[in-house]
Amino acid sequence: MKCFDCCSAGELLKVPNQIQRFEYGPEGQSVTLEVMVTVWKCFDCGALITDGDAEVIRDQAVSDYKAGKLEPVDSSGARFLRSVAKPDKEEIDSLIAFMGGLDSDL
Ligand SMILES: [Zn+2]
Repeated sequence: MKCFDCCSAGELLKVPNQIQRFEYGPEGQSVTLEVMVTVWKCFDCGALITDGDAEVIRDQAVSDYKAGKLEPVDSSGARFLRSVAKPDKEEIDSLIAFMGGLDSDL
């Protein structure tokens, strides 16, 4: 495979399992879908290239989205924020008590 950017004939570095996001749908109503693809990195210009396999994976993601099997990525990033647990007050209190216990032992 050749680099499309600089047409280098040099070897491209295979980088598997890269998360790639792409827009799907009409403008204003498009959603962001996330796929895991293999990308190729050009040693000469640093361009990242995806091959035909990535195209198939993106097509599959669109089919899955249409079938309701794939959730679009929340572009606000709220999905990630929600997964961060709030510290439990009881847990902190017991941790402080534990630390205090250690201090008195010394
Ligand atoms: Zn290149």
